[in-house]
Amino acid sequence: MKLPRIDIDLEKIAHNVQQLKTLYGAKGINVIGVTKVIGGDPIVADILVKNGIEILADSRISNIIKMRKAGIRAQYLLLRTPALSQVEEVVIHSHMSLNSELTVLKKLSEYALRNHMIHKVILMVELGDLREGIMPSEMNAIVKEVLDLKGLSLLGIGTNLACFGGISPDEDKMKELSLIAIRLEEKFKITLAMVSGGNSANYKWFTSSKDVGRINSLRLGESIFLGREALSRKPISGLFTDIFTLIAEVIEAKQKPSQPYGTVYQNANGDTPHFKNEGLMDRAVLAIGTQDVIVSGITPKQKIIVLGASSDHMLLDNTKASLRVGDTVAFDLNYSALLRVFSTPNIAKNKINQYECASIL
Ligand SMILES: *Cc1c(COP(=O)(O)O)cnc(C)c1O
Repeated sequence: MKLPRIDIDLEKIAHNVQQLKTLYGAKGINVIGVTKVIGGDPIVADILVKNGIEILADSRISNIIKMRKAGIRAQYLLLRTPALSQVEEVVIHSHMSLNSELTVLKKLSEYALRNHMIHKVILMVELGDLREGIMPSEMNAIVKEVLDLKGLSLLGIGTNLACFGGISPDEDKMKELSLIAIRLEEKFKITLAMVSGGNSANYKWFTSSKDVGRINSLRLGESIFLGREALSRKPISGLFTDIFTLIAEVIEAKQKPSQPYGTVYQNANGDTPHFKNEGLMDRAVLAIGTQDVIVSGITPKQKIIVLGASSDHMLLDNTKASLRVGDTVAFDLNYSALLRVFSTPNIAKNKINQYECASIL
């Protein structure tokens, strides 16, 4: 089997999707499946759809195109607010998008009309995390304009927290979003079909809240794929946290000094490293590097210390593991490491426990 590779347990993904759908469904919240962390992999997307996910969301239009080309039938939502330069692609390939800029909304409408389509939009509200979103005080003015744009249909509103500023989607923030939805509905005599309260960081709020208000949608990636909430990264009970395993191969194993010797300047990463002298050390080199993975985001499954990495090599303290050339080392990954792995063609994507993968690919 190819190395390095990532093993992907499809049955465990199916299990997590079912559990999360049931959990959130119990309080009327629909789960949107976020595919960016798996790079829009069609086989994985297929698992989500077969387990009842109706809307697939991705931040990259290229991933959406990939899934649609592979024949994965779903409603597609573009998560990153469209760039002006990609408006036409967005209208053609995604059914809906999150938005925060009137200039973009006008262009989306124009291209939708030109293509005899209606593009659905969800207006993002800024609630303090300071990434994308319209300031609450501007919502009325923007909604008024959007309702006049003939190529658009206003599907709802949403917010995104805990991404840039680390702001918690707590009871106050969710109440504020509900209230904005209610006021817009009253003012403009409209119904907002979707009020999308956030992402995997909303778990704590959800489990402690008696009344979820008008929130009826969450966009989940990390909870599905890593089985965790995204505020403190605690495992969610009943979910698998070990769906993915990264595996790399030992290409050198030798006893060498623990401290580099000679005149110290910058290394490949632009750092000037300092190592303690601990005498001779059993060391191993893995055929994987910073090109392939975020080294700080992976954890070996056995007792090994990662000493560092350059673009194509990872250095290990092999004292406890006694690895030999040709042996493999397995790692758990966090969200950023997973994102990077799925963005590189150099790591084989190995699906295990094939789950009714039907006719695609
Ligand atoms: C990535 C993303 C999500 C999913 O976040 P998770 O923490 O993986 O659940 C939701 N909404 C937006 C706008 C995103 O960019």
